[in-house]
Amino acid sequence: MTLETLYSIRNLTVEYDTRLGGVRAVDDLTLDIYKGEILGLVGESGCGKSTLGKGMMRTITTPGHIVGGELWFEGVDLMTLSEREMSDIRGNRIGMVFQDPMTSLNPLMRISDHLIEAIRTHYPRMSEGAARARAVDMVKDLGIREERIDDYPHQFSGGMRQRIMIALVLALNAALIIADEPTTALDVIVEAQFLDLLRSLREEFELTILLITHNIGVVAELADRVAVMYAGKAAEVAPVEAAFIETKHPYSRGLLRSVPNIDVDDQDLYKMTGAPPNLIAPPSGCRFHPRCPRAVELCSEAEPPLLDVTGAGHLASCWIYSDRPNRPTDDAT
Ligand code: ADP
Ligand code: MG
Repeated sequence: MTLETLYSIRNLTVEYDTRLGGVRAVDDLTLDIYKGEILGLVGESGCGKSTLGKGMMRTITTPGHIVGGELWFEGVDLMTLSEREMSDIRGNRIGMVFQDPMTSLNPLMRISDHLIEAIRTHYPRMSEGAARARAVDMVKDLGIREERIDDYPHQFSGGMRQRIMIALVLALNAALIIADEPTTALDVIVEAQFLDLLRSLREEFELTILLITHNIGVVAELADRVAVMYAGKAAEVAPVEAAFIETKHPYSRGLLRSVPNIDVDDQDLYKMTGAPPNLIAPPSGCRFHPRCPRAVELCSEAEPPLLDVTGAGHLASCWIYSDRPNRPTDDAT
């Protein structure tokens, strides 16, 4: 299988201006998203996941701003587009789904109106009746009864609203969905249904999905690849099995292997202590070194590059995998 890149983030840096200084929520981050994949983006709260998602859409608002980097999508560097051109991309090619769809649905508009508007934005010559018929088909496909289509958003459950968000994205004919904690507000049963839906839609529509979540179990089940973010940087990026079974970065080991039912050597599992650093003044060298059980002097002195450590697309940013004589060692204790 050859992997075609759909979205390529190159050296993206996003900063929030605060009274205490600039918070580098995303720092010189490079990441490729392949066509047709579900890429799970994980990391503790405050590591910059949502900022990355918004940065990719260029929807960072004051006090935040993109400091630098390139955002290549379908052959275009989105950073070079005007705001109007960019909003076209947002309206057509990239859709975003949030934790609480109530904030993205207009409470005064019926579900049907939301869908009809989205469909007619994309197909301006379609009649209202035809758009409505299509909207009805869509909600039925998503497991919602036809007679509910004229309800208002507040009459829908959280899970149903999430489905509508997905329907809106599909109406746009989007190539990429960025879903930021889409199931966090849902109960487990509805979450499972929603994830099944994502999986089947991905197959049916050849969607590419960036699934941002703190739920490691969801990623293990659904993602093709995993990107682990720590303190504004990519710590590890790998195919899902390798990420969980042959975890390379000490941070990812603490994070990914904290999930029960994943079959790994117990000796490699350790409990992580502490919390992600303040991003106004992050630690020197590797940002994880103050919490890392393997850290040596080198780790506080220099930042490790993100390198393919297996030659098979398994990237990790850790000095263990360098040839430095003073590198940390990897024997698990
Ligand atoms: P995550 O989604 O991984 O929890 P975020 O992208 O929300 O992380 O936040 C990353 C960092 O940016 C955090 O340190 C957070 O405090 C900071 N941050 C996010 N939004 C703002 C804002 N509007 N103003 C200042 N700092 C912010
Ligand atoms: Mg977030």
